Amino acid sequence: MQMTEIKCPSCGGKMEVDPKNPNIEICSQCDKKYVIHWNRSVSTGEERFELTPVPESIAYEPVKRKEPKKTGWEPYGWKRGVALVILFFVLMGIMYGPKVYRRYQMDHGGIATETQDK
Ligand SMILES: [Zn+2]
Repeated sequence: MQMTEIKCPSCGGKMEVDPKNPNIEICSQCDKKYVIHWNRSVSTGEERFELTPVPESIAYEPVKRKEPKKTGWEPYGWKRGVALVILFFVLMGIMYGPKVYRRYQMDHGGIATETQDK
């Protein structure tokens, strides 16, 4: 495949292949990154390419990137999960603890007089 000189769609500068990613071309002038897609034409066998801007590299443009709203809970995500599990078991203990305790006492000859309707 012959090396076609790729020009930056934005400024016309020479594009160079990203050493980290051969599918990405970086403009040597404005440092914009583009994903390159090669398409071989079926009829002519000619290779053509398309450049798609890489959205991660918009540091040079004052484009407002949409950031997910932070709640402040992100670093505590797993801790909150653990806390919910613990809370669940505490609630279960509160709800079923006395029954289990009474059952235990009954099984061991404890207070059997207060037998509730079963
Ligand atoms: Zn450029």
